[in-house]
Amino acid sequence: MTGKASGFARRLWPTETQWLPVLANIAPPDLRRKASTDRLLSNIEAHPNWPGFNYVFNHPPARLASRSPIWSSDMTPVDINAQWREVWTPAPVVNQSLVPDPTIRQPGFDLPRHTWSMLNRFRTGCGTCRADLHQWGLSTSESCSYGQKQTMSHIVDSCPLSRFEGGLQQLHIADDRAVHWLDTAAKKALTNETAASRDDICETSSAEAEQSATLNLILSGVAGLAQLQWWPRPCNARHSS
Ligand SMILES: [Zn+2]
Repeated sequence: MTGKASGFARRLWPTETQWLPVLANIAPPDLRRKASTDRLLSNIEAHPNWPGFNYVFNHPPARLASRSPIWSSDMTPVDINAQWREVWTPAPVVNQSLVPDPTIRQPGFDLPRHTWSMLNRFRTGCGTCRADLHQWGLSTSESCSYGQKQTMSHIVDSCPLSRFEGGLQQLHIADDRAVHWLDTAAKKALTNETAASRDDICETSSAEAEQSATLNLILSGVAGLAQLQWWPRPCNARHSS
């Protein structure tokens, strides 16, 4: 990927991927693959009469360095949840400290989808706040109505117009008060700002459309002139001249 392309992808990357298994409550794919391999090996080990037994447990010496048969990897069974906690705890993920145990269902897992989704936008620090919209080129300003940079964290923790008592740490618990705040104050903060941003986009779009129409007019004029000067005449016209 070129520098420009990778920069573009980074700007549009919505949520840190380490958060996804935690919020979905499904272990990360590499750990699930290892657990699946462990199950397969223990199954084979319990059946010495199976054709695959000798291949795995009485295998010949490795001859080709390029091959990586199943017995060349670490065959020690792992505790998938313990490994997940080991990986999660030191991970440089935004608001990682909210989740001491990534293996359990996070609070609010059974909330209606739109409420759960909005809650997770605050947890992951990534949503349709002004700062993110501005970063994605969808808003001309990154400030809230109060004149401060409107990040998801600003909305929940410090904005005088919307902050939640107890901040993100309390919101994470997803009790009734948190759900009420998500459905009212948070929605209002994001909807107002998003609507304002849409107005900006519409204004930009109409200005761009105007420019585009003018450009098209010029181009069609140039094309017309080019056609007059350079377009080959029809055969009959050429013959008649
Ligand atoms: Zn604010």
